[in-house]
Amino acid sequence: MGFQDILEEIHSKLRDAPHKGVVASYIPELGKVSIKNLGICLLTLDQEEYGVGEFQTPFSIQSISKVLSLTLALNLIGTEVWKRVDVEPSGDPFNFLSLLELERGIPRNPLINAGAIVISDILYSNLKNPKEDFLNFVRELANDDTIDYNLDVANSEKKTGFRNVAAANLLKSFNNIQNNVDDVLDFYFHQCSLTMSCSQLNKTFFMFANSGKSIAGKTYLNPSQVKRMNALMITCGFYDEAGEFAFEVGLPGKSGVGGGIVAVHPGKYSIATWAPGLNVKGNSLLGMQALEMFTTKTGLSIF
Ligand code: GLN
Repeated sequence: MGFQDILEEIHSKLRDAPHKGVVASYIPELGKVSIKNLGICLLTLDQEEYGVGEFQTPFSIQSISKVLSLTLALNLIGTEVWKRVDVEPSGDPFNFLSLLELERGIPRNPLINAGAIVISDILYSNLKNPKEDFLNFVRELANDDTIDYNLDVANSEKKTGFRNVAAANLLKSFNNIQNNVDDVLDFYFHQCSLTMSCSQLNKTFFMFANSGKSIAGKTYLNPSQVKRMNALMITCGFYDEAGEFAFEVGLPGKSGVGGGIVAVHPGKYSIATWAPGLNVKGNSLLGMQALEMFTTKTGLSIF
């Protein structure tokens, strides 16, 4: 069975699933998306693409952007990053605050909200035009100039992102935010509002499957940094469901509350899914099932 047939079989099994989860509505703009969307896209290392369903429809990538902001921070200041944020799985929800108090303002890892807000602060200090420069970096990684922020989503989160405001202020009280809190949050909300399709996500994440070299052939991370990024994705990419994702799917990956997931098999492929219904942990319900079916059917997990 070829990859296209496998994706089609998974899509037809899941498309009519009675339980699709719940679309995130705490960011009101995200709540407008139809739960019926289901896209799956595979990009192999030799740049063959296979796709089914809404794999070319752009959606809000939300926390998936945390991997990209960390990549840029590593590019800019290298291992200095690890003085400001730890590399341990949190075992807690993405917006959990009490650990931050307990660990005196050093977030558990860069893939939960508090950690990503610290990374945003680092970028804000080191980029001339943070929003523009970050967007250009992502466009360059994906080799695609059409990728953009969705300002309606960014503004929607700005109005309702109370927990992120709390996290940023707590971080500031521990001196782990150097810039103005509102500026850093505005930048963070813009990053989360990045809009991409499954096909574009695979192109952007191609480098994590390809030893740090992007789809256009430019090297952004050295092999040791790529190893670390993939280690962080597998241990922290799904919050308090990282164990479940490794157990069921067996790939480094990252989810977002827009319903997207992107995962990589180093040396082999990148795969992205979009199904906006989330499970109770805030990860795409059908996306996780689709990826479990894919690695089980093909035997292509890293374990
Ligand atoms: N922008 C969202 C937030 O900060 C991202 C969360 C997510 O995708 N898990 O709450």
